[in-house]
Amino acid sequence: MISLSTPIEEIPKIGISYAKKLKKFGIKTVQDLIFYFPARYDDFSEIIKINQARQRLKETVCVQGQITQIENTKSFKKWMSITEAVIQDESGEIKAIWFNQPYLTKNLKEDDFVCLAVKVSLFKEGIYLNSPSYERINEIGEKEELTHTGRIVPVYSETRGVTSKWLRYIIKPLLYRFAEQIPESLPTEIVKKYKFLPINDAIWQLHFPDTFESADASKARFSFEELFLIQLNVLKEKIKLMQKKSPACLMNPDLMKEFTDTLPFKLTDSQKKCAFQILKDLEKTVPMSRLLEGDVGSGKTVVAAMAALSVIKSKAGLPAGRQVAFMAPTEILAKQHFRSVSEMVAKFNVSVGLMTSKDSRIFKENETYDVSKKSLLGDIESGQLNIVIGTHSLIQKGVEFKNLALVILDEQHRFGVEQRDHLIKNKKLVPHLLSMTATPIPRTLALTVYGDLDLSLIDEMPENRKKIKTIIVEPSQRKDAYDFIKKEVSDGKGVFVIFPKIESANSKLKESLEKNGPVIGSASVQSGFVPQNYNIPSLSQLAINEVKALKEEYERLSKDVFPDLRITMLHGKMKPKEKEKIMIDFKNGEIDILLSTSVVEVGVDIPRATIMMIEGAERFGLSQLHQFRGRVGRSDMQSYCFLFTTSPDQLNRKRLKALVDCHNGFELAQKDLEIRGPGSLYGTQQWGLPDMAMQGLSNIFLVEKTRASAKEILEKDPALEKYPLLKERLKQFEKRIHFE
Ligand code: ADP
Ligand code: MG
Repeated sequence: MISLSTPIEEIPKIGISYAKKLKKFGIKTVQDLIFYFPARYDDFSEIIKINQARQRLKETVCVQGQITQIENTKSFKKWMSITEAVIQDESGEIKAIWFNQPYLTKNLKEDDFVCLAVKVSLFKEGIYLNSPSYERINEIGEKEELTHTGRIVPVYSETRGVTSKWLRYIIKPLLYRFAEQIPESLPTEIVKKYKFLPINDAIWQLHFPDTFESADASKARFSFEELFLIQLNVLKEKIKLMQKKSPACLMNPDLMKEFTDTLPFKLTDSQKKCAFQILKDLEKTVPMSRLLEGDVGSGKTVVAAMAALSVIKSKAGLPAGRQVAFMAPTEILAKQHFRSVSEMVAKFNVSVGLMTSKDSRIFKENETYDVSKKSLLGDIESGQLNIVIGTHSLIQKGVEFKNLALVILDEQHRFGVEQRDHLIKNKKLVPHLLSMTATPIPRTLALTVYGDLDLSLIDEMPENRKKIKTIIVEPSQRKDAYDFIKKEVSDGKGVFVIFPKIESANSKLKESLEKNGPVIGSASVQSGFVPQNYNIPSLSQLAINEVKALKEEYERLSKDVFPDLRITMLHGKMKPKEKEKIMIDFKNGEIDILLSTSVVEVGVDIPRATIMMIEGAERFGLSQLHQFRGRVGRSDMQSYCFLFTTSPDQLNRKRLKALVDCHNGFELAQKDLEIRGPGSLYGTQQWGLPDMAMQGLSNIFLVEKTRASAKEILEKDPALEKYPLLKERLKQFEKRIHFE
């Protein structure tokens, strides 16, 4: 007896080999198959008489008729088989042709009735149907039972060996059998309130819609459902957290003033506002969960340092001082934060530790020492160290904080809450959490992915900043750009060159490098475009090629273009120590041009760098380009961003133009969303949102509705006891998505 939970291999029509293929898209049970949603639809709904076809040239239509003739022939080029058929209805006849499907004559015989759907084609004077979709029918005029033609037809994302036609053939009978049995997992009050289709109708209308409106209505329902589950998940965690206790850290306004007085600049109003929100949160006994969002260069680090200082200095009767963990995404950034935070807190008798996979350092009483990892760990455990800055190594086994009161996460939007979970296991008191990001995300995504965090926004730049001049450089202007760079360097300025990941340094590339500078290989694994018959190189191979291409560019720049300048390469294969040294040298003016892959993308602060030159700019998303651009313009000097492109593509042009005109990360993220769709948003893949949820993200009203509904339900019934089905779905859903 087949049920919704029956494994697919037990369905007679599927069998072992198809089951294997389906498992590749995560389909294991009958229910999974029913919930495998179409990617789009073909509109084959208009059925016309054969004699009307001539007026409908190049339009997609359906005809129904009887086969009067069908046969296979070989083309003159031998290897191609052609099936030709003539179909007749009461108005006339038309020819249909298929290529390389000789088995068709086994399915379709003379006198059979068929329904055919395709664009009408013209050949010389005659019209014909080229490779139409077809299905057998019982009589002309049949409408009800059509699956592949004569209706709005679902098209699934296919992979090798599983076609949409086959999926329709499998899914439709399952819908007949099970659609009625699928339990409604949305609370009835929600279905009523938003007038959603009941699940049983919605699932039919999604696969085999009567109209495009009903397909949309059903999609809206499922988008709602996925986003609703995300919201439930996020808010449930939040409620759980609210019941925990955190150390209240009272702020000391005099101390904060003293701190800001030592800075070489004045805080912007935005920085003050955000710092205040954070300091106020820290005073509470409920754990803070706050996201500090601000464009690159807006000065988040100093705000974080204020929070850290406030926590450390608020004693509140604890035996040992409170501690702060500060996590950065890369070793370079961890070290940069270590240096700048140490400097900022130097006058306040605060000790700072650095822990990366390779280095252990301590800053204490104005001195920095290298120490053994063991002694660093000891100081963390005894509570001697006030602030510990590091990479992921901070959450590894064996790191025990005596008195952790605040966790700061820089540019770790992919992790966040889970990392705090790691740091608090078995602790009575939960540390506060401050997460920082420069990734501007549209509000819908913020509400979804960061739905459990409160938001503080730094929305102004320090006063001394000049707008970065952004210029799209045509190939013919390359030399002018180089001359300009030479002049800037002779004034002591630093230059970043970003060279995109490229797949191989073949001879064509070399040739055009010589002619016009770098050209980006078209076969790019990174952009997801893999030409047919293309062998995908292994990842390590890619990394090697990448370094090789970077080296070639390095040779070219240092020999031919800037023989007199000091150029250095930076790439992901280097040791952290080497990278760090390079960054320090660059900062101190011992390097003129730093050529790198996108590793310098986040957070690195080099005020003397005034030029960001990006090769193959069309290869990057707007938000990412904006991040690159934010590496310069960090002082009162005029900075420049040169976008070198090799593609004359108009769409790319339009995107890059947006970057020239717009300097607001949020607007750029929104533009990326509009031009390239939600998948293009920087970092979204890593959030692993389900398809339907992604589609829903472009709709702020939908997102707000799901949030309000989730709140309402959880307030009434936090354990979802009255909603056992919803609870079960949420459990499954939580297993499926992990925001990592
Ligand atoms: P981000 O927000 O990208 O992390 P940082 O915190 O690295 O930015 O700050 C960028 C640079 O701006 C640093 O050199 C910092 O010292 C400086 N800075 C921060 N706040 C101000 C301010 N209010 N005025 C001038 N410079 C500032
Ligand atoms: Mg930063």
